[in-house]
Amino acid sequence: MTSPPPRPAGAQTDSPRPCFSAEVIATGAELLQGRTLNRHGYTLGGLLTAFGIPLVRETVLPDDPQRITAVTAEALTRADLVFVTGGLGPTDDDLTREAVAEALGKTVVSDPEADAHLQAYFDRIERQPTPAQRRQAKVIAGARVFMNPVGIAPGQCVTTEDQRHVWLLPGPPRELQGLLESAVQPWLTQLGERPDRHVRLFRILGHSESRVQEAVLAHGVPEGVEIAYCARPGSVELRFTGPQRQLSPMVDWVREHYADDVLNETGEPVEVELGHLLTARKETVATAESCTAGGIAERLTDVPGSSAYVAGGIIAYANEVKIRELGVSEAILAEQGAVSEPVAAQMAAGVREKFNTDWGISITGIAGPGGGSSEKPVGLFYVGTAGKNQVRVTRYQVNGNRAQIRDHGIQRALECLWREVVDRQSLADNPSVRDRDCRATAP
Ligand code: ATP
Ligand code: MG
Repeated sequence: MTSPPPRPAGAQTDSPRPCFSAEVIATGAELLQGRTLNRHGYTLGGLLTAFGIPLVRETVLPDDPQRITAVTAEALTRADLVFVTGGLGPTDDDLTREAVAEALGKTVVSDPEADAHLQAYFDRIERQPTPAQRRQAKVIAGARVFMNPVGIAPGQCVTTEDQRHVWLLPGPPRELQGLLESAVQPWLTQLGERPDRHVRLFRILGHSESRVQEAVLAHGVPEGVEIAYCARPGSVELRFTGPQRQLSPMVDWVREHYADDVLNETGEPVEVELGHLLTARKETVATAESCTAGGIAERLTDVPGSSAYVAGGIIAYANEVKIRELGVSEAILAEQGAVSEPVAAQMAAGVREKFNTDWGISITGIAGPGGGSSEKPVGLFYVGTAGKNQVRVTRYQVNGNRAQIRDHGIQRALECLWREVVDRQSLADNPSVRDRDCRATAP
């Protein structure tokens, strides 16, 4: 990690120089007791990354003013920008203002604008604030104060003599979000020059994390570029962070090397990509599911607006339903079994015909734990896709428990459909698809 360069002591205004690193201090005993999931580092990390500022550390603390003072002071020896969240409310455990003021050697004072905002809030609900509630209008002396668009306690930002900035933000996620949009984001925008630090990401289908790493390292990585690999079910997220000029050749290389397997450069899941494609083409899809029993349809319809392209589906768990509803041949079922290539093909073609859609997608497999054999082990499944011109079946063999195998099935089915719709078949055409390494991308 690069440490921030020395800076001249200056006036207490926002400096035009870039912020090199940020830390978050999330306060609240409930965050450490398994009662509330801490979301603030996640939210702030996303925002700061968009501004090229690395969030390098998040500390979670109980409502203990001494700890908050000590950790804030410590963070200010490392980071240019510190966000302290929570503990700005009216109760006795809300002591963040006082604790941070102590770390900065400052006092806490009443802010007339925040007090008027508080009074207006109580006037609207026809109540009078108690003295404890009034405390929420207090701020650290010298802070820039930002009214809370959805609550009472304002956000505040104190700039130290050596041009580091401490933000105090309320704990409730809705209030934090409100102040991020109304105050922090505009403030970050006016900070002036941004660090030349950009993030590019690729969601790559059908390759394991370790294979992607091998390929990236064999290609070579320009100096100053950080690489991160993140295994997602069915895909790998490959991320490069660094100066724009250094990133460009890596971006070009990934686009070329994984031409057929880059799902997108946004990180969106495959069902969202399918949504974009099918909507743009005014095409429709229907599902025929055995082992996933509606899971594919659920993922497809998780996307807002999916009613434009999802016609419906059949859960064909029993053989008689496969025969009656999807036109699967009784003879083939008897000869080859329900988990077989021709059954997947007939299910996909059958559902496409039944719903009169452009695409049909099917799955049949063995999710376990029982029902496997040496010939057809647990984790075997076939995905069928049927379009105007052809029906294609892909065979998969994966590891995992019942839930994991079903998740794999859903994910692979969506990928197969995406490949059909965008007409990118490099992997599915390749016999090695049967040995595709699924371990690294197992959920
Ligand atoms: P309040 O006026 O509500 O007391 P506050 O600024 O004092 O606001 P807290 O008391 O720390 O904030 O928390 C208020 C609510 O916000 C609680 O429900 C808490 O669980 C939630 N909250 C606080 N911090 C986080 C966090 N990091 N992630 C998710 N939720 C949080
Ligand atoms: Mg509180």
